Amino acid sequence: MAVLKVLVVDDEPGIRSGVSRILTNYQVTYPFMDEDYTFEVMEAATGEEGIEIIDRDRPDILLLDNKLPGIQGVGVLEYIRNKKLDIVTAMITSYASLEVAVKATRDGASDFIPKPFTPQELKSSIENISKQLYLKKVTHKMNKEGKKIRYQFLSVLSHELKAPLNALEGYLRMMQEKQAGENIDDYTNQIERSLHRIQGMRSLIMDLLDFTKIRLERKDEKMQELNMGELVSNSIVTVQPYAIQMEVNINLDVKNNPVITADPEDMNIIFNNLISNAVKYNKFGGRVDITIDTSDDDVILSVSDTGIGISDEDRENLFTEFMRVKSEQTKNITGSGLGLSIVKKIIELYNGKIEVESTPGTGSIFTVTLPKKPLTKM
Ligand code: ADP
Repeated sequence: MAVLKVLVVDDEPGIRSGVSRILTNYQVTYPFMDEDYTFEVMEAATGEEGIEIIDRDRPDILLLDNKLPGIQGVGVLEYIRNKKLDIVTAMITSYASLEVAVKATRDGASDFIPKPFTPQELKSSIENISKQLYLKKVTHKMNKEGKKIRYQFLSVLSHELKAPLNALEGYLRMMQEKQAGENIDDYTNQIERSLHRIQGMRSLIMDLLDFTKIRLERKDEKMQELNMGELVSNSIVTVQPYAIQMEVNINLDVKNNPVITADPEDMNIIFNNLISNAVKYNKFGGRVDITIDTSDDDVILSVSDTGIGISDEDRENLFTEFMRVKSEQTKNITGSGLGLSIVKKIIELYNGKIEVESTPGTGSIFTVTLPKKPLTKM
């Protein structure tokens, strides 16, 4: 429930008290709004008094009579415009003067309420203004979030790419200056580390590409019947070089016949991320157990690891963009913090769900449930 402040500026006491009475128990609710609006009414009898209240209380809505003693309604509008205040104004007009209406609209009024008005006329005008205010707030929030994501995107990119580039440059300079010896074999260590750094940069770039590819809609024309067992086997092959380095054993158990209708690209993003995380955040010599099972309507994939685990607190934000757990154990593991947020978005496109169980120090289980045949779009 949000309260909008309404200021009524009119020299007729009857109008002011009428507005107060009508709006005091009025509530605006729309199915698309996630909050209801109620109203708190403030009254001013002159333009000067109105300006004082505007400066002090910053109303959201102004109901403004044009014909006032002293400073006129259009004068108050001008004041608001000059101070660049964000107040939605409806003019209360006793007679329809086109000239005043044009000037008031030019000066920022967005609605007109004829005088005298019925309670219903006032309510429908206030309802319109409330909708406008709500949409403005939502748009503002979306712009801000968009900007925040773009900013995080750039800072992650520059930070995550700078470190491996510096390392690579250092190793190449060592070789150029022959610091470890004359022979290429003297540099095996540096070459291996360079390749590892390049692999890190490559996976970061892949994550960013997936992230920018994320759609708000599924591409239904790309959906086809897929065998999940085959797709997961392919993902395991992709991750295998890293698993060998970590001496992590990956086991796959496919039960029943897990056929799903989906876009293979989407499924690959899900499997690659979950399986590579299970290896990346594992312990040296650990295990990853993957099972694929079916129920009547769903295919269920579970990826279980014997890794470092995730605390309850970190689990809460696990699927948020750029979220990475910062700890002694993760400090040398490269990543963008985007993988799981992408995975969750895709799963939601298919009306599926993802759940995580985890015990710090013991391991984690990620379980994905996807409908075998997702609903087609309306
Ligand atoms: P990234 O791996 O690129 O950092 P993700 O979005 O895939 O990003 O994962 C977010 C964070 O969640 C990781 O940084 C890691 O801290 C944690 N995490 C993900 N999967 C696991 C896992 N299987 N075990 C432990 N921690 C994990």
